[in-house]
Amino acid sequence: MADIIQLLPDNIANQIAAGEVIQRPASVVKELLENAIDAGSTAIKLVVKDAGKTLIQVIDDGKGMSDTDARMAFERHATSKIREANDLFAIRTMGFRGEALASIAAIAQVELKTRQTDSELGAKINIEASTVKNQTVCQCSVGTSIAVKNLFFNVPARRNFLKSNPVEMRHIIDEFQRVALANCHAFFSLHHNNVELFHLPAGNLRQRVVGVFGQPTNKKLVPINEATEIVSMEGFIGKPEFAKKTRGEQFFFVNNRFIKSGYLNHAIMNAYEELLPKDTFPFYVIFIDIDPKRIDINVHPTKQEIKFDDEKLIYNYLKVAVRHALGQYSVTPTLDFDQIQSLPKFGDFKKNKKSSQPVNKEATRFPSKMTDDFARKKANAANWQKLYEGLDEFEIKETTTEEGVEQSVTIKSKWTEETTPLDDEQKTFSKTQKPPYQIHNTYVVSHIKSGFLLIDQHIAHERILYEQFKDALKQQEQAIQQELFPETIRFTAADADTLRQILAEVNMLGFHIEEFGKETFVVHGVPVDFKKSNIQQTIETLLEQYKTNIALKLDIKENLARALAKGSAIKRGKELTVEEMQHLIDKLFACEMPYKGPSGKACFVTYELDELAKQFG
Ligand code: ADP
Ligand code: MG
Repeated sequence: MADIIQLLPDNIANQIAAGEVIQRPASVVKELLENAIDAGSTAIKLVVKDAGKTLIQVIDDGKGMSDTDARMAFERHATSKIREANDLFAIRTMGFRGEALASIAAIAQVELKTRQTDSELGAKINIEASTVKNQTVCQCSVGTSIAVKNLFFNVPARRNFLKSNPVEMRHIIDEFQRVALANCHAFFSLHHNNVELFHLPAGNLRQRVVGVFGQPTNKKLVPINEATEIVSMEGFIGKPEFAKKTRGEQFFFVNNRFIKSGYLNHAIMNAYEELLPKDTFPFYVIFIDIDPKRIDINVHPTKQEIKFDDEKLIYNYLKVAVRHALGQYSVTPTLDFDQIQSLPKFGDFKKNKKSSQPVNKEATRFPSKMTDDFARKKANAANWQKLYEGLDEFEIKETTTEEGVEQSVTIKSKWTEETTPLDDEQKTFSKTQKPPYQIHNTYVVSHIKSGFLLIDQHIAHERILYEQFKDALKQQEQAIQQELFPETIRFTAADADTLRQILAEVNMLGFHIEEFGKETFVVHGVPVDFKKSNIQQTIETLLEQYKTNIALKLDIKENLARALAKGSAIKRGKELTVEEMQHLIDKLFACEMPYKGPSGKACFVTYELDELAKQFG
């Protein structure tokens, strides 16, 4: 039999290796920025087009490369950073595996221009799918510029696998922020589609943190600074009262390399202990410096995981350092975290109170439901009717508006109708079933024939709003109330970029928001019935939630509908009037999917009398 094993050609080997190192545009950004840092640069410019799908370019003023090195840099395992195995245990550079440029050049069109200080002319190389297209001398400034075009152009499966631009851009910004935080001595800028998102002059760490996360961050920071013979820790932690509902702003760096570590994060959470409001995450940017001999960073190709030779020691040390910092600044916790009131949507329920007609207020805001939606909801409501059968009488009302047919459900009770109402609230209520009631300002109890339902008011309202927003996003025109005095809102560069990219969809929800410079937006209008007092906070909550949802890989509209529903739904702990509860129940059971909230949690639990009786048996 003939021998059948062959060595793979270089270009194929590189393409395979690329699969590990380069997963998405953000991976290229990380590798190029780290190379620029390793080259001793003091000014680094990142230019991105179409979230990196068309272009990723990094321009630095570092030491540059010779003609020969410029060519060598694209060979696999070609590196200037280590020479022998022992060097692996004393790594102080970001790169060392010598595979980034080879990988990138295997799956994109790359143009490199580079010049060293002592050469008059630089070198220029064009390389595409591991093939050198040309190499010439060129005029260029000292340093290196690498432009990576059309990433994955020759790996269609990979290219198709890329996420939407906002998602890919978010990943790029994450990588950019990490490198920028770890290198505050250097200038950084980030341009996306000709807009400069970040402009970060060289400075100290505090200035860099503020540059990255925005001016308001400044007052939230508590410095942390400890050193022993083995390890030193410095950076900032956030005051507990500024902890956020999402995990975003947490950064560990070990020897200046960003790492992810659930274990170390636990140490920090542990140190904050009861200082943190429930379900919140503190801000931190912490740099751990340790003898490279005591760690192994060669665990994973992206080098984001790390092994310490004595993990426990680092854990305890970190915990003590955070405690110490919190103590030293005698940070007093503000346990009342409900100041972060989101959308005042629930006011809508009140407005229905006086009207005897079952007017659907939210439907006015997002009119013109499609007819098939309507039929479906009608069927749904009819199913729910059965649950209440015998106990109450259902009435499905159809109101024809300019935009289409609207439907609402009223539950009529046979035996409450005759009673003489005493006050306003009872009056409205006497027309409906036995009143629902609230326990712990969180759950609504609603009687049904066979027992009762226990409804989670937050999840139920989330479901209702979610379906409304989804409907709204299918339509063209929403009812907007125009502001007499447009309000200006400002965001951090990262949030501003996110908002810019989803602005069209946000406006479809009934907002009228326009870009006004880099980090500023003007609000010309908000959805009808929307309280505008805290529009900034509303949008912040929306973005915050949108970012959290990115991990779920939803499309923009789905994400937005969920985000706005979550942010606007009534909170647990809010007291509801009987009217409000009834309205909530009616709306819930008119939903397409009343059982579950958008994220899959149950909206209510059913308790059967039979089952309850057994428990007393
Ligand atoms: P590694 O960074 O692991 O060494 P890379 O493939 O990223 O591997 O880069 C290969 C080599 O190319 C580096 O070791 C370095 O010598 C050179 N190089 C890459 N980028 C730059 C840059 N921006 N400036 C100077 N030299 C660079
Ligand atoms: Mg590198």
